[in-house]
Amino acid sequence: MILVIVVVVVCFRTGGSSMAARAQDRQADPFPATLDRYLPESIEPVYRALAKTYDPARAMEVVVFMDRFWRLAGNEGFLASQQNIRQRLEAAGYESSTRSDAGGDKARVWYEEFPNAGRGWDHSIGTLTLLGEGGVADEMLLSREQHRVALCINSFSTEPGGVILPVVDVGSGLSDQDYAGKSVAGALVVGDAPIGRLWRDAVQQRAARGVVSTDLPAYLSPDAPGATPTPRSQWEILQWGSIPYDEARRSFGFKATPRAASRLRERLKKAPARVRVEIASTFSSAPNRSLIAEIPGRVAPGERIMFVAHVQEPGANDDGSGCGTLMELARSILTLVKSGALPPPARTLTFMWVDEVRGSRQWLQDHAGEAAGVKYMFSVDMTGEDTTKTGGTFLIERAPDPAAVWPRPSDPHTEWGRGDVKRDALKGTLLTDLHLAVCQRRSRDNGWVVRTNPYEGGSDHTAFTQARIPAILDWHFTDRYYHSNLDRPDKTSPAEMANVGISIGTTAWLLGNARVADAKAVGRLLEAAAAARLDLEDHQGGELLKASPPTTTVATEREVFNAWKQWYVEALQAVITLPVGPRVEDLSNGIDEAIKQVRERQPRGF
Ligand SMILES: [Zn+2]
Repeated sequence: MILVIVVVVVCFRTGGSSMAARAQDRQADPFPATLDRYLPESIEPVYRALAKTYDPARAMEVVVFMDRFWRLAGNEGFLASQQNIRQRLEAAGYESSTRSDAGGDKARVWYEEFPNAGRGWDHSIGTLTLLGEGGVADEMLLSREQHRVALCINSFSTEPGGVILPVVDVGSGLSDQDYAGKSVAGALVVGDAPIGRLWRDAVQQRAARGVVSTDLPAYLSPDAPGATPTPRSQWEILQWGSIPYDEARRSFGFKATPRAASRLRERLKKAPARVRVEIASTFSSAPNRSLIAEIPGRVAPGERIMFVAHVQEPGANDDGSGCGTLMELARSILTLVKSGALPPPARTLTFMWVDEVRGSRQWLQDHAGEAAGVKYMFSVDMTGEDTTKTGGTFLIERAPDPAAVWPRPSDPHTEWGRGDVKRDALKGTLLTDLHLAVCQRRSRDNGWVVRTNPYEGGSDHTAFTQARIPAILDWHFTDRYYHSNLDRPDKTSPAEMANVGISIGTTAWLLGNARVADAKAVGRLLEAAAAARLDLEDHQGGELLKASPPTTTVATEREVFNAWKQWYVEALQAVITLPVGPRVEDLSNGIDEAIKQVRERQPRGF
């Protein structure tokens, strides 16, 4: 879900219906709970080797290192985070290299630079102080030291020591009425509207000096699940944001915690209020940059399995955890290959740490030839949530399937909301069910909670999906600290990163080394998943038609049922090209039979 607000890509999502209702919806997943029993035997030793080698503490070290920075493409924290990961990969045996050194059989790591659409913003001071009046002491409401990300991206510096401004409250600030009779020119405007809207209406249209938005999605809360609720006026949580880059106005924006907002408004009820705003920020003209590591395939080097984690943003879970999870996976696989525990992969494995979506699109553009050989892609984003603190569950965001086109009670979307997927954009793939089966295998060992959600977008899998490459996202939602000042390493679970890293590695290894016997097993796995899905849609469609008033029509239910049939036919067809190397007749025959079964399946309930 890419929302280009200004020059910053934000892995952003807005709140929907109540968290409890969504959590309730997510109790039962619409897939057979035992798809893992269909997994090819060959994958078990790979899974065990990865589970033994994968060191979650190393992944956590990356999270802790990246937590020092608000990473944005081109700024010091972004570049230092990539360099930290690069050094760990070189220490693991990836050869330091450049793009042009392509080819050969060595594992390599290198940077690729490209024009930076962002401004590489960063800040060292971002303080908002409520000035005392009549003997009352000044009160610091927001600061970088305490709130870390209260100041909005692209805010300009003030003069040293700061500026003193009158405060004007416009309430919601969503209508011109809210500004009527208020002189906001040169003032600090406080409002509940989203930061972008407030900045545009107050600064751009009415010459305010800067803004403070109190906007906070309903699913965010400072309190851990089950903890005694804190009074909202004491909440010290905010969701970071950005304002447009505007060199002419050299303005600023803050996101307020509910506590800061209520302190300001309490004061304004009594008397006019003034604040001191002090900002020291920088911009960088450094290029955008992607960190790429690769283990070349020994049999089909032109065929790839891709993995992408994004570096930008300030969060420990979003996406320090994805960067750590992926670094440790790249290290583990190479360690196993170098030790001989695993053979060199047949297909090429390509790992990337990028500026979200921009880095993926740039790779697809700059590597158009290689892009044609990408077989499957994993987006590794928000993989480390300690769900005892953040709430929510681990989720596989599935490749677009009919449940992303037609809302289904069995397949609820997350609080983030559904994307706009068209039926003709659907293409069945084996990736979703296979990866789910592998995660279920992991869950068999430790009770890991694994759920799925229909495609929504909003991370690097979007770029590959738009390039018609089968792609999924491994993440967690709902995270009550999402994009907030409280997304810190204490909310990250090394064990959760291991669950995700080992599962992605196991699925990817199968995709990168599959033989005919493996493909046959995957074919049987898909047959089981297809039968279960068609049973579900048959039953569910019937129930929806019985509802009074009915919420659907027979024609729609038939369309959904047939869309799922077509989807699984395409998923089964993908099995034929799963084995590395030339096509085998025998495999096609078996798959054709499975496809025939799916095509002949008719709904009984409508
Ligand atoms: Zn993210």
